[in-house]
Amino acid sequence: MKIGIIGTGYVGLPTGVGFAELGNTVVCIDKNENKINDLKNGKITLYEDGLEDLFNKNVKNGRLKFTTSMKEGVSDADMVILAVGTPPHPVTKEADLRFVYEAVAEMADYLTRYTVVATKSTVPVGTGDQLEQIISEHNPQADFDVISLPEFLREGFAVHDFFHPDRIIVGTNSKRAEDVVRKLYEPFDGKTHFLFVKRRSSETIKYASNAFLAIKIHYINEMADFCEKIEADVLEVAQGMGLDTRIGSRFLIPGPGYGGSCFPKDTMAMACMGRQNDTPLTLIETAIEGNRSRKKKMACRILNMVRDISSPKIAVLGLAFKDGTDDCRESPAMDVVAELLQSDVSVTAYDPKAMVTAKNLLSNKIKYADSLYKAAEGADVLVILTEWKEFKNIDFERLAQSMRRRKIVDCRNMLNAEKARRYGFEYRGIGRV
Ligand code: NAD
Repeated sequence: MKIGIIGTGYVGLPTGVGFAELGNTVVCIDKNENKINDLKNGKITLYEDGLEDLFNKNVKNGRLKFTTSMKEGVSDADMVILAVGTPPHPVTKEADLRFVYEAVAEMADYLTRYTVVATKSTVPVGTGDQLEQIISEHNPQADFDVISLPEFLREGFAVHDFFHPDRIIVGTNSKRAEDVVRKLYEPFDGKTHFLFVKRRSSETIKYASNAFLAIKIHYINEMADFCEKIEADVLEVAQGMGLDTRIGSRFLIPGPGYGGSCFPKDTMAMACMGRQNDTPLTLIETAIEGNRSRKKKMACRILNMVRDISSPKIAVLGLAFKDGTDDCRESPAMDVVAELLQSDVSVTAYDPKAMVTAKNLLSNKIKYADSLYKAAEGADVLVILTEWKEFKNIDFERLAQSMRRRKIVDCRNMLNAEKARRYGFEYRGIGRV
């Protein structure tokens, strides 16, 4: 099949690579010329575990192409996948559909045969109806169906999740569109759940899922605060809760708050939709507020550790919003760093993969080190903010020798508290004393 993918970001690129690997001809379209030039020259533009090898392979065998031309990407395509960003509107915080509308208006003219236009961008309920109208207005002859095909990949596991999806949700009532989707996803037959639903249900499923997961994280974070007060251990509590199959153990990991390019914006967009439809979504509103203050709370915890030191030096390990990705959008680590910088402190940070993306956002407000031990040199406190595996095996002896003071705030509960204390560190984790 020929697939056109509009948007080559964290969703579009892994999706394009994945469909090419399955044997399709894929043309990835982006309006960002620099990105397309890099990709055309064989330079991958983002970090995802395992993506680069598949990218190289499929560029080489000619199944994966890149262009800035809508015409080249969309003409003759069996399916066009929308994977452009839907950031929060700066004022209203609802999903800003500017990029989706622009992309659809631009591509409409080039629909030359029956084409399924699939929305992978996370869009508010009812967007499919609007897109249908925009295409028909721009190109009254176009033969097409707009379907909702929400994306559930986890950054850091995008390649794994493409090839092993938990479920494929398709929002359409068109039999023709369903046939095209079934053909495209034939390799997954019998390996995953397919759910064909109303387009509006599919659009809702994406938001309802992300909001639920965000609430689950917020819930365990509140439990962590409670455990600290009553001297219980939140990891034991989470383990005990998670053994109940109705609850499940995933997303019961306390930390510095949820972040990333999806949960914060999708919870805000869902809350807006609730208000607009006069059905307040109070749990979601509470999670949004609680998550906002969580990052401030973490910064207070860190500053508290060094309150007796003038102009303390803080070593930060991790800037990406989670391990396995270089994405720093709405990263709790970045928010905590921004909070720290409100005080008279100096911050030196290290992240195994996200130094470039972090520098684009923080520029020279902090210093950057090229290893975790360099970041720790002369520091008064070491803070772990992203759960990169390499932090787990930290050499306490080396750390103890190079830091000015032996203090650790481990916002991801990665280190062995007992061992840290044996080496003379004042250690503070999350939800355990
Ligand atoms: P991104 O910002 O990484 O990438 C979007 C790309 O679209 C950019 O490269 C941009 O240049 C391009 N673009 C914008 N307008 C365009 C146009 N008119 N024509 C061509 N290209 C255009 O975004 P992302 O993280 O990949 O997210 C894309 C969508 O997928 C969002 O709606 C997001 O909510 C959703 N989503 C993201 C994830 C995730 O983990 N990142 C997971 C599930 C769903």
